[in-house]
Amino acid sequence: MTGSAAAEIAYLARALRAPRIGAVAARLADRAREAGWAYEAYLAAVLTEEVSARDSHGGAARVKAARFPAVKTLDDFDFTVQTSVSRQTIAHLAELDFLAEAKNVVFLGPPGTGKTHLSIALGVRAARRGHRVAFATAQQWVNRLGAAKRAGRLDEELERLARIPLLIVDEVGYIPFDPEAAALFFALVSSRYERRSLIVSSNKTFSAWAEIFGDPVAVAAMVDRLVHHAEVIVRKGESYRLRGKREEVLTADKER
Ligand code: ADP
Ligand code: MG
Repeated sequence: MTGSAAAEIAYLARALRAPRIGAVAARLADRAREAGWAYEAYLAAVLTEEVSARDSHGGAARVKAARFPAVKTLDDFDFTVQTSVSRQTIAHLAELDFLAEAKNVVFLGPPGTGKTHLSIALGVRAARRGHRVAFATAQQWVNRLGAAKRAGRLDEELERLARIPLLIVDEVGYIPFDPEAAALFFALVSSRYERRSLIVSSNKTFSAWAEIFGDPVAVAAMVDRLVHHAEVIVRKGESYRLRGKREEVLTADKER
């Protein structure tokens, strides 16, 4: 590349706020000359570099902003240890049509069966594909909404959350809710109904939710909204954490 063209590209890349173009233009031009690329192939290669730099930047930032307790992916998930969820169902969810359609995903099942893992994996996928995501336990969501309510800005907070396409609510049912917490949880579910997606996990069946939330009638209405447009995935079987350790765990139990 001639000196003046290189300087002009550097200037134009800055003007476009496309730093990666500035960084790769000369190197790719050398490769293009050596390999005899068409003009179009060179332009495509340069633009691809910029696009993937932007994607991975934004993706990493969104994954961080989502506050996942750990980053898990579908690639780390072993579908052979449990057949209660089909790889196909999850692969379909990973296409993220459910986000566009404001549908929900609900994982139910005993501890250690991969509910949180799969929730995070779908969330990471969404974040990397350009969607904002926020992860918290049910208790943390309720605390956050409770603080907003006390500050007199619950509606504002729900509106703010409505701008996030995917909220993940983990561990519904680990701790029973008092009536105030239950009401906040119901408000969250209704505020997103047919507008935005939720991924919810619980170690309790829906029939046990009445006990967690206290008010069977309100719970029925809430579950109705939650599952009206949802993929409900029921996990079964033994804990992945305890796999192959059942003997030791049981013996340890007896020795205690
Ligand atoms: P749950 O939320 O259902 O209690 P987790 O998703 O937290 O369970 O799973 C417990 C641990 O086991 C996590 O570290 C998770 O990554 C791992 N795990 C669970 N199921 C699988 C699986 N099928 N393949 C790989 N890791 C798994
Ligand atoms: Mg979990």
